[in-house]
Amino acid sequence: MIAQNFEYIAPTNLGEALRLLGDGEAKALAGGMSLIPLMKLRLAMPEQLVDLGRIADLNYIRQDGNAIRIGATTTHYQVQSSALLRGSCPLLVETANHIGDVQVRNRGTIGGSVAHADPAADYPAALLALEARVVLVSAKSEREMTVADFFVDTFTTALEPGELIREVIVPVEDQSEGASYQKVLQAASGFAIVGIAARMRQSGGRVTFARVGVTGLAGKPYRANNVEQALEGTPGSPADIQKAAALVADGVDANSDLHASAHYRKHLAGVYTMRALAVASSRTA
Ligand SMILES: Cc1cc2nc3c(=O)[nH]c(=O)nc-3n(C[C@H](O)[C@H](O)[C@H](O)COP(=O)(O)OP(=O)(O)OC[C@H]3O[C@@H](n4cnc5c(N)ncnc54)[C@H](O)[C@@H]3O)c2cc1C
Repeated sequence: MIAQNFEYIAPTNLGEALRLLGDGEAKALAGGMSLIPLMKLRLAMPEQLVDLGRIADLNYIRQDGNAIRIGATTTHYQVQSSALLRGSCPLLVETANHIGDVQVRNRGTIGGSVAHADPAADYPAALLALEARVVLVSAKSEREMTVADFFVDTFTTALEPGELIREVIVPVEDQSEGASYQKVLQAASGFAIVGIAARMRQSGGRVTFARVGVTGLAGKPYRANNVEQALEGTPGSPADIQKAAALVADGVDANSDLHASAHYRKHLAGVYTMRALAVASSRTA
């Protein structure tokens, strides 16, 4: 199908984009990888599109002390190929590698992916495990929040009308830390049937720190605090990892579709949490 007619505007500075988006009627366009298909299906029918692609001030990856700030229009390819991120936040690089295909990674952006909040998207698992933050701006205000607060429900975020994601902030991972993203993909699209991001630190023969982010399993991505708590303080043996990973889907209302039943998704989540933790553990220094 063909999208309904719309007005296309491509401002070159953020202030102008925010002014255009101010009344909440126009829609932001980033890579168009999710929005354009929705428009073609007439599931989205914006009358005005504000293309963020020419705003240089939204495209950057830079270190700021113990954090790395990633501008909203940074593409998945730019994340995947960033030397700074590879050295300082390898979990995000590994996750970007898993997104779609080359074309999608060349066009799609981190801001667009996070704003779209697809429950099967890859970044949310890593961003939750990284305890990342997002900076939201509008013509009138700027605020910062955790991604855990940002993801409200399926395709629903804390974004207010007229607000944009300006940047995503991830921590510089501890050099002793091991991390891994493990995913069962839906073969046609590449989206996650289940995707698990894990971080782990070990010291004195004990797990001192564990973080687990989950995507694809439920209506929104989540942090598996119960798995983290079960693992921290243990020696992190294969049996400890297996026992903790088995908790990942406890009490979760799992998605069910033609690709995987809820029961099968829960099973996969347990197996892939075990796998992500085992790989993370093998990468700890
Ligand atoms: C064939 C195919 C396969 C894919 N496979 C995967 C996959 O395996 N894993 C995965 O995670 N994703 C996958 N995707 C989705 C892809 O990652 C998209 O890049 C992403 O969902 C949307 O990013 P975008 O930049 O294209 O945003 P757009 O499509 O331009 O916008 C998406 C939504 O976000 C809003 N938006 C965009 N930028 C901002 C901003 N800065 N602030 C506020 N709102 C904003 C738009 O208004 C729109 O509502 C796939 C897409 C396709 C087409």
